[in-house]
Parts: sequence; structure tokens; C-alpha cells
Amino acid sequence: MEKAKEKGTTIRDRHTESPVDTSPSVGDEVKCTTCYMCACRCGIKVHLQDGEIRYIQGNRDHPVNKGVLCAKGSAGIMNYKSPARLSKPLKRVGPRGSGEFKEVEWEEALETATAWLTTCRATSPHKLAFFTGRDQSQSLTSWWAQQFGTPNFSAHGGFCSVNMAAGGLYTIASAFWEFGEPDWEHTKYFLMFGVAEDHDSNPIKMGLGKLKTRGGKFVSVNPVRTGYSAIADEWIGIRPGTDGLFVMALIHELLKAGKIDEEYLVRYTNVHWLVVDNPGGADHGLYIRDDDGTALCWDGDKQELARTDSVAAKPILAGQVTLPDGRRAVPSFQRVAERYLDEAYAPESVAETCGIPAPTIRRIAADLARVAFEETIELPIKWTDCFGRKHDKVVGRPVAMHAMRGISAHTNGFHTCRAIHILQLLLGTIDVPGGMRYKPPYPKALYSLPKPFGRDREVKPNTPLAGPHLGFPMAPEELLIGEDGQPKRIDKAFSWEAPLAIHGLMHMVIHNAWKGDPYQIDTLFLYMANMAWNSSMNTAQTMKMLTDKDPATGEYKIPRIIYSDAFYSEMVPFADLILPDTTYLERYDCISLLDRPISHADAAADGIRHPVVQPTRDVRPFQTVLLDLGARLGLPGMVKEDGGPLYPGGYADYIVNHQRRPGLGPLAGWRGEDGSEHGTGAPNPNQLDRYIENGGFWEYTIPDEHKYHRYANQGYLDWSFKIGFITNANQIVMKIYSEALQKFKLAGQGHGDIQPPERDRERIAKYADPLPIWYPPMEESMVDGGEYPLHAITQRPMQMYHSWGSQNAWLRQITGENWLYINRAKAKELGIVDGDWVWVASHNARIKVQAKLMDGVNKNTVWTWNAIGKRPGAWNLDPEASEATRGFLLNYLISELLPADGDSYRYSNSDPLTGQAAWFDLRVRVERAADHEQGEMEPRFEPTMRPPDLPPAPKILRYGEAFRQDRARAKEPTE
Ligand code: SF4
Repeated sequence: MEKAKEKGTTIRDRHTESPVDTSPSVGDEVKCTTCYMCACRCGIKVHLQDGEIRYIQGNRDHPVNKGVLCAKGSAGIMNYKSPARLSKPLKRVGPRGSGEFKEVEWEEALETATAWLTTCRATSPHKLAFFTGRDQSQSLTSWWAQQFGTPNFSAHGGFCSVNMAAGGLYTIASAFWEFGEPDWEHTKYFLMFGVAEDHDSNPIKMGLGKLKTRGGKFVSVNPVRTGYSAIADEWIGIRPGTDGLFVMALIHELLKAGKIDEEYLVRYTNVHWLVVDNPGGADHGLYIRDDDGTALCWDGDKQELARTDSVAAKPILAGQVTLPDGRRAVPSFQRVAERYLDEAYAPESVAETCGIPAPTIRRIAADLARVAFEETIELPIKWTDCFGRKHDKVVGRPVAMHAMRGISAHTNGFHTCRAIHILQLLLGTIDVPGGMRYKPPYPKALYSLPKPFGRDREVKPNTPLAGPHLGFPMAPEELLIGEDGQPKRIDKAFSWEAPLAIHGLMHMVIHNAWKGDPYQIDTLFLYMANMAWNSSMNTAQTMKMLTDKDPATGEYKIPRIIYSDAFYSEMVPFADLILPDTTYLERYDCISLLDRPISHADAAADGIRHPVVQPTRDVRPFQTVLLDLGARLGLPGMVKEDGGPLYPGGYADYIVNHQRRPGLGPLAGWRGEDGSEHGTGAPNPNQLDRYIENGGFWEYTIPDEHKYHRYANQGYLDWSFKIGFITNANQIVMKIYSEALQKFKLAGQGHGDIQPPERDRERIAKYADPLPIWYPPMEESMVDGGEYPLHAITQRPMQMYHSWGSQNAWLRQITGENWLYINRAKAKELGIVDGDWVWVASHNARIKVQAKLMDGVNKNTVWTWNAIGKRPGAWNLDPEASEATRGFLLNYLISELLPADGDSYRYSNSDPLTGQAAWFDLRVRVERAADHEQGEMEPRFEPTMRPPDLPPAPKILRYGEAFRQDRARAKEPTE
């Protein structure tokens, strides 16, 4: 706790000469914690007066935001004060979906959940599907599910940005955003793809400010010129889903001009690794290895095989060699050159598809090469590489790139993400000054990461899974499939349908559970995931699935639904049991290095939240509830030998005392009994106090000599190993060519012991490719382009994040409804004028919404804001609120399945490798509604009932009023 003495400079009024306090104290106490109004996790200072939240300010000392606060962060007060907050556990009493509940005590709620889950765990633990939404406690929630023994756990990554995570980790041993960031201090050319406002929110704003102050160039590739694109120096209004092709054209140009960093590529990537050249053979495309498994290259000087990690060797990068055993092989770079030098990737060949003129593509390629190779940076930093060579400087090629959901939400997003990383690698810009830099604990070698657990032999009654649910398969043997090749998880992750689904497929859980494919479940347990509304595709059908009954039994097809949320979201009426959560200002949280920490390129960091106010409702932090449930279920690691709870103090107790292995706990700072150890060490009973004293975070600044080339920087690798981030201190080789993907391709082609079922063969053989490929988004290639000629996508408003933001009383005043934005010239062709109501039809459904015209959007694309529309009555908003009457979702139009193709099996509408939900593949037709149809949105849903614990929503919310009255009273003269 800190006293509120943040006075600004006192100046004098020009006219009266009386002192003017420019920054008056707004409370009597300040508490530092972490924001949770979006995924960014900025440090905040919460000013309180008489224990009431008065004002939220950015924390200048915090590693993420350095004091910067966005509109969402400041408006956290109104989430804490939201009329939609739940206040008591609820049990459903009416039909599912009706919103008819009765209040129950916590004991009854927890005993009900325990009874349901005990039976499930004792008989068939896989029948619990536990999925969490924008959960920042995944190291706890995944561990809980593992101890329960179900294979069916994941968080929301599968419908968010798993293509970015998988594309990065399978290529550069890291990823954009949480595991890597542009070097904002040095980059001179920044290329950003697609909508990215929603994750690294404040750091990108701050970074763009630095870049522009230095005169660097910001190029935004995005079908829509909004958000960050609005301040770009150059906007490339690309056609959605063609970014990969554009990037491959840039690669084509760089290869053609010889503008690549060969030395960097040979030293840090696998371009020189030999792969077998035996088309049609079972070993085609696999690495040549020596007897101990080390990959080999061909030394061009000595004309012999050499270890790929030999610094003395002079490996060839092109041509074919015949090995001593008679096999033929080529360096993997040969495959890169063959593919991308093909005229199919020439700027002229891709220009029309991408909607970018060929000269523009050529100029951008030339700009990238010029900045990378002619505007290099040298920093006088001494470092030692993993080959024992000492360097007295680091050379930077100051080109950096970033991508997030815009690229991710396509069925070709994984390959596009890999292509972007390969473009960076060819320029030599990964983890160098001015490039994309790693954030600890990354990089991590792919082979050292865990494999997924959940096969039949690993799922047993009353037994924990022996390993994590989510992992990184590198070969068909590591999939979660049965002997018949069928999926073992309810979302079909790690099956032939989505072999690299490292974050699961949350968007398929309800559909698959409803259909009983691959099996029926017993209990669906959700946390913070608005699956009956904006977090699901096909919203109307999803609600139907949640309420659908089996005609034979009269029971719901998804028999039990437990849900935890802080608010009366659209999902609440569809649950049978509600466990009301607190807001983020009322609880402990841990932003852990075991999970997704707040590190930045120069420092490892983690952080906490702690209650700055106590809840006045009968609610409990979900993480504490989960530990309580775990103890009631007797889950290993959550109970003492006598059967009592191991963490009676709830989540705070767990954060301090839990050890994943000796010395390794959720928080890295101030460990050891006296708090003198960092990274690893025994639990420290005062650890949370130390975090609170330090502003809510811990930060370890990496020495300069460890800050670059971390895949091969021996000092960094040794430290990273010592602290437990990596399993050995060997070089981490970045993979331009992916042997893992080639193994899946070979299986699809009929090689190996584990092969896909007939139905999946062609698909796997086509999409699992060791080098990035581009193909049109799947929906586009399956629907009639004449019937559905336009792309439809969403963007995230800066001031909103998911549905929490769009119910916030302050933020609603900025955006309280949304329109369908159409390119002005396209609208003219369609006979649509500003303000017309239009029908938007997809192969799945149609909606009627209001149109607005604009210039800054790709001509073949329409778009709207994400997650503004609300179901009438939800979030305790007036059923006639603009969000319910004029706010809409594109989700109605998007099917969770690919379009029907005769009687053939309908795959999920997801990336065929990672299972990423393809939100942005949507194709639509837009037509002006008839005159008599103008004026009203469709569809309109029936208002939900208000549950008993929700007070009537006030007509007007005036948060500051109470304080104003206090101040006015304080100023009144006393008698
Ligand atoms: S960017 Fe996100 S975490 Fe940071 S202040 Fe804004 S809402 Fe909070």
C-alpha cells in the first residue's frame, strides 16, 4: 500500500495568483495491481478514498506499460461497479436458456458440483470437458484438469491466435506478443499484418510512438485502415486471407535479388541441414543424421558430410549430393529456393489475388532489403556464442514485424505465420538489434516442449493424467488418437483433423458434445467464456445445441453445465450451476512464468493482482473455488494426507506455497524462506507482501551480453537453463524447414506405422508441408464466389475487449452500436447509400444490419466492430439498449463447420493443422433491404430473464457523484 501523495507541480493562476494544484490528490490511499481489462496486463495504481475506488492510473514503474493507461484500463472502475455483476451462487430452476435460477449458498453449490464431478471422475474422467476463456491462470487451471484426469482441457487460444503461437514455436522457438516483440528502441522499418490491437495493446502504442519519433517507417498490411493502421506511414489494403501469398512474393523478390543473410541462416537456422531426396519414398524430406541423431550437412570444401553444428564446415546451400550410402540429399535451402523462386510467387502473379500492385510488392521487398542490409546497427556488446566464439559487437538488421489475430483467424494462418517468420529469418532479424526480440522464458526448443497426454491408456478413473493436455507433436506417434485413428479429445485436438492444435479447439466443444462426436460428455465446465454469444461461431445454433434434448431420454444432450463468470453474460442462462466470480480488483492472481508472463525483451518478469477492495457480494475468486473443489474431490496435490485442503487460504495460499517441482513455484520473485532468492527457491511466506511492496511485479533485467542471439548466446542459454526455463543449454536451431510437418505429410502419403484414416489422407498430405504454402481460405474455395463475392471480417475497437468492455458504462458511451462498413465505391455498385439497412448473407445464415460507407477498406471487404452486439436483457442492460437493438455480431453468419459438400464429412471451420477458428474466412453477399424492411435489425432474440441476484439496472450510472457530493460537503462552511 502506498499513501496518495502524487501531487503535481503547484503553479499560480495568472489572474488571481492563487495556487492551482494541477494534479490534486484524488484519494487517501494508492494500491498497485495489474489491469485485466484486456490481455495486456499493464501495471495500475488504484487510488482509493475511504476504501472506495476513486481513480485508476498507469504505474510508471511497471515493465509492460511504463505508466501508459488506455481507455479500457481507466474504465476498470465501471467493470467493478457494473450492474451486471453476479452476487450469489445460482442453480437453474427453469428450462435451460430461460434464465430462471434460484440463489443457493456456496456450500450447496460446491457440494452439487462435487457430487457431479466425483461420479464423473470415478467412472469416465474424459467426460468432463473443462474449458476456460480469457483465463490468465492457465498454469493452475490446466494443472487442476490434469489432476482430475480428463484429457479435455484448454483455454481460449484455439479460437483466438493459436496460429501465431504454433507458427512461431514451430519456426523460431518463440512467437509474437507474449514471447517476442519488435525492438522498439532500434527498429527502423516495422511491418504489421492484420488486426493486432487486441493483445499487445499499450506496448505497441508506446512502440509506434518511439518508432515515429525516430523517423522510422510503419507499414500496415490490413484490409481495414483503422486502429494502428490509421497512423501507419503506408497502408496496404490487402484482400483478407492473402497475406501469406504477399509474404511469399516478398521472399521471391529477396531470393531473386540475393538479399538474404546467408551467414546468419547457416549459423542459426537449419537451411544447410540435408534432407533426403527420394520422391515417393518413406524417407523423402527427412533429415540426414549420424548414428547419434545429429543432423548433417555437406561440407562443400571437403566434399564430405559434416555435423550441422560444426563451425569449421563450409556447408552448401544448394544442389544435390550423393551420400556415401548411395542416398541422394539436398540442403533444405534448396527446397526454399525451388519453391519461392517459382514464378507463381512473382509479384505479377500474386498482385490480383492480393489486391496489391506488383510495383508496390517489389518496392516493399527492396525497402526491406535496403533497411536490413544498408542501414545495419552495431552495438558494442561483447558476447560468446554456443560454439565458443567471442564477439565484440552485435549486428542488427533493423526490420521488425508483428502479426496477431488478423493473420491467425484464417484456415491458412499457420502457414502464413511461418512465412512471416521465414521472411524475418532470411533478413537475419530475429533477436538482433532492431529486429523481433525474444521475451524470456523464450526461446525454447520445440523438441524439448511437452507432448500432449490423453490417450486411452493415459485416462483412468480417479487417476491424474501423467502429463499435460496440451503439447507439441512432432510426429504422428505423438497424436491423441485411437487405434482406429479417431480423436481422443472432445474438441478433436491432436487428431488428424488438427494435429498441431496446441491450444485445443474451444469453438468445437459445444458442437461436438451436442453431437456426441467423438463421444458424449457428462459435464461441461466453463470459466469466463461467453460461449452462448460472441465467443462462439453460429450463435443461434449454439444456443440451440445448449438447450437441445435427447428425444429418447428427455435429458439435455449436454447433461450438465457448470459456469463461472463475474457478470451476467449471455452464457449464464444456459448453465445449470453458476459459481459467481469476483472482478479483477477483488482478488489475487498470478501472472506466472510457468504460463504467460509479462516479460519483455530486456527482462524476465511476472506479476500479481491482489484485492484492492473486498467484494461486497457473496462471490468467490474462481481460482480459490477451483482449489476448494479440488480438495473436496480429493485431487492429488490439493489435499493433505489427512484429507484436508492443502491450500485452505485459497489461491493466495497456492501462489505462495505450491511447487511444481522443488523450488519452482508460480512466482519467481523473492523466493527462499527469507526472500533472497529469485527464479527458484523454497516458498517464502512473505512473497506476496514483497510483490505488493514492489508495485505488484518482479523483474529481472538480463545483462547486456545476454540480450541478443539468445538461441545461440551461451551465457543466456546457461542462465535460462539454470533458472529452469529450458531443459538444456544447447543451441536452439530455428526451423525454416520443418521435418515435423514432413513426417505428417509422409503419413498422409501412406508411409509409416501410424497413418491417417482414408478420409483424412489427402488433406494431411496437402496441408502438412515442411515449407509454408498458400492456398485460398477454405470457405472461399468451397462457396460460389459469384454468390458470396465479399469478405467479411471484424476489427477490435481500441476501447473495447471482448464483451466485458461493451457493457462498461463509460466505454459504451464511445461505442454503443455497430454498423457494417462498406467500401464507398463498392456500395455505389450495389446501390447502397450511407445508413441503408442491408441484408448480409453467408452460406450459413443471414442478418439485417445498418450500413456505413468509408474509403479506408479493401473494396471486396466489409467489416464491423467485434463483440458490441448484446442479447436483450443480458449484462443487466436495458433490453432496448442500443447494443441489443442496433449492435450485431457477424458470428451468426459464421458456421463452425466448413460448407457442406454433398454427403461428405464436414470438417470444422478451422486451420487444418492447428485447429485455429477461421473467423475471418467468412464470405458474404450484401444487398440493400427492401424499403419495407428498412429500420430494424435481424435477428432479434427474446430478452433473457433477470436472475434473482441481479438488482434492477439503474437508468443512469453516475459513479463520480458520490465523490462530488463529498467534496462539495467538505467545502461547505462549517458553523
Ligand atoms: S492495454 Fe489492456 S491491460 Fe493495459 S491498461 Fe489498457 S486494458 Fe489495461
